[in-house]
Amino acid sequence: GRILVPYGQGRIRGLGADELGAHGAAMDRLVALGLPVVPGLTVPARTSASLCEPGTAEAAVDLVEQLSGRRIGDAARPLLLRLSASTPTEIAGLPPDLACLGVTAANMDALCAVIGRADALHEVWAATVRMIAEYALDVPAAMLDDASLDAPDPRTRIEALLDLTARHGSRPFPDDPAQQLALAARAVLRRWDSPRARRSRKAQRLPADLDIALHLQALRIGPADHSGYGTAVSRHPETGLLSPHGSFFRGVRRSAPPPHTGEPLDRLAGGRALLEHALLTLERHLHAPVSVDFEVRDDEISLLAASAQQRPPLRASVCLAADLARDGALAPEEAVLRIGPAQVQELLHPRLRLTGGEELLVKGLAASPGAAAGVIVLSSERALEVGADGTPVVLVAHETTPADVPGMLASAAVLTGSGGIASHAAVVARGAGRPAVCGVDGLRVDRVAGTVWFGDRVLREGDTVSLDGRTGAVYAGRLGVSVAAPPPELSTLLDWADGMRRLGVRANADSAAEVSTAVALGAEGVGLCRTEHQFLGERLPLIRRVLLAADPAARDEALTALEHAQHEDFRALLAAVGNRPVTVRLLDAPLHEFLPAPGDASDAGEEQRAAGLREANPMLGLRGVRLALSHERLYPAQAEALFAAWADVAATGVRPELEVMIPLVSMAEELAVAAVYVREAAAAVAARTGVVVPYRLGTMIETPRAALLAGELAEHAEFFSFGTNDLTQLTYGFSRDDVERQVLAGYQERGLLTASPFARLDPHGVGALIALAVERARGVRPGIKLGVCGEHGGDPESIAFCDGLGLDYVSCSPHRVPVARMAAAHSAP
Ligand code: PEP
Ligand code: MG
Repeated sequence: GRILVPYGQGRIRGLGADELGAHGAAMDRLVALGLPVVPGLTVPARTSASLCEPGTAEAAVDLVEQLSGRRIGDAARPLLLRLSASTPTEIAGLPPDLACLGVTAANMDALCAVIGRADALHEVWAATVRMIAEYALDVPAAMLDDASLDAPDPRTRIEALLDLTARHGSRPFPDDPAQQLALAARAVLRRWDSPRARRSRKAQRLPADLDIALHLQALRIGPADHSGYGTAVSRHPETGLLSPHGSFFRGVRRSAPPPHTGEPLDRLAGGRALLEHALLTLERHLHAPVSVDFEVRDDEISLLAASAQQRPPLRASVCLAADLARDGALAPEEAVLRIGPAQVQELLHPRLRLTGGEELLVKGLAASPGAAAGVIVLSSERALEVGADGTPVVLVAHETTPADVPGMLASAAVLTGSGGIASHAAVVARGAGRPAVCGVDGLRVDRVAGTVWFGDRVLREGDTVSLDGRTGAVYAGRLGVSVAAPPPELSTLLDWADGMRRLGVRANADSAAEVSTAVALGAEGVGLCRTEHQFLGERLPLIRRVLLAADPAARDEALTALEHAQHEDFRALLAAVGNRPVTVRLLDAPLHEFLPAPGDASDAGEEQRAAGLREANPMLGLRGVRLALSHERLYPAQAEALFAAWADVAATGVRPELEVMIPLVSMAEELAVAAVYVREAAAAVAARTGVVVPYRLGTMIETPRAALLAGELAEHAEFFSFGTNDLTQLTYGFSRDDVERQVLAGYQERGLLTASPFARLDPHGVGALIALAVERARGVRPGIKLGVCGEHGGDPESIAFCDGLGLDYVSCSPHRVPVARMAAAHSAP
């Protein structure tokens, strides 16, 4: 009585998965949930060897006959048995199931006639006979292999196996079902003890003496038209919606699914509703997407096995989490915590469909997520030409500069030989939501010849490549790209996430279009508008003329043109921002990005002036506030354009919360001078338009000195935004454009760095400077508004760090906004 435990009785007898195995425990659970299970019993671990005894085996056969209401050998409602094994948790390397116990030479044809498909029964029975012969009746494996190989037809193979057993086995193969079962149990246990199985346990770090429970199930034979078996998962793998997905097979169940694909579940007719009910019930119980094995008999379904689905598709997990919370089975907060920020990222970006046969050309830095396939173009001009009719193009360049931005925007993806995670190409690509791979070693672009070398493989402009900005891989040819939109449940989870987080999430956006994208993705405002990005491509000369003006009159003219252009840009930007906050940063134009290349100036005088402005270290040069102090009309012109634009949109009833920000400050005096420019501009606009524009003035903290002197800066600043790109560059002294290519890999090999400090904020150095600046700033101005607008603002770990410091918000590229919202919800106390 204690040895044979019918499905559903284990719990009542105080047995758990340790004794019942994962399968027995699962069947118990199904019974407890009121779901129909196939009749059967468990022989608990530790006592499982007793099933090898004839008396126990006979009792087991009787019990299953009783539970199923059928008898072995009954012609009208035939019954066979299936023996399987399980351990407390699911593992690899369990002995195969032995099915169709109860078949004899005498009843075989009648059984085949009932099923209507002889081959299925023969195939399964041959496998059972073979394993019993080898493991319980000691027929040498080599002989069995020959017998099996010689007879491709399973019926003949059965004859050969029985004949071989009669001649070489310890005894002939029995016809009695109980004797067959006792031998089958012995075969399973011996197989579990075989050196091969022990090796497999060792490889999985499982104890060598791990016990298995045995399970005996009824196999109720019926006509193939109305009987069969199948497997189903609770959720559609593409959409994630609750909808049984799987297939079923007619005939007798095998150990492994047959090579042909089964029939779709909608052919199950009446059984489908029950399957849906079972899957839903199980999901609510397990709080996970589930999979079941089931048997169909006379169009009715009973369950053979059920478990939480191993590695469920992400969409299934997302939809389930939302469903469980909507049904009250989980709190919304718990549902949110089930989906990580990295998973949000994964759902939002397209991916390459890899088949295994593709040619990997190179691997570079994963600079901007997403995937694309397109025609190679080697210049921005070609990108605009070829891309004009909608042809997807991949812009391949050694590096990109502001002049390339229109071409980058016209491209489906960007690939560069140089540059790191915070390089121009990477920042622009992420901002625009284009996948990018940067810093590819061995990438050589020959624009004149129209060729590009990937190591020693050469492709031409016009050839096709595919790239994955999440892995950095570049492939030859056009691979498929999956572009499935995220499920609507993601928005539900993100809305709940918004209710949980303390930290604000803004976007870095430079144009009205980017602002609209960012707002649609849930940004609460703009944390950084880089005004130099408004002078890209054909508008580059507007800045260039200011920088290279031959005399004050020419400079004033250039500044007026710049101011007009900015006025329009700002008007559109502010209208898109609406009543939200927006931080507009005055120009930070590293000169090398804006000066003509040597030989490209329009005349000899300009060439000479450009040469005079070239710097050995442009990132440490005349940029940010330094440029403004040497071109004194620059910031006033910009600020006047900004305030005038604000007055324009205010006339339409929109009042953006304007924040004016000064870049690359390292001394309080610089900020004080810049503040005067801005104040005077506001006064000038007020005098001209009658509108007093409300605004706050603040600064970026991008230099270590600024961080150290944050207290003094706070005297002049109503807010700080930490520019962690430059702050990282200057704290480590790592070039943000080169470090990943030149230093990072070697440092990672030595274990000195795990990730690029430009991708993940360094908490010890850069982070310590930020913490110190926060403390000093709050000491002087307790309510000072603090944010981060470097690329770290979109990185989940860095976001958690910022949350820990009590910053007010992070700002990241529009396409990372949902990731940041989720990360901030996860880091909330
Ligand atoms: C920064 O330095 O972190 C920053 C946001 O400014 P930029 O990337 O434009 O230098
Ligand atoms: Mg900066």
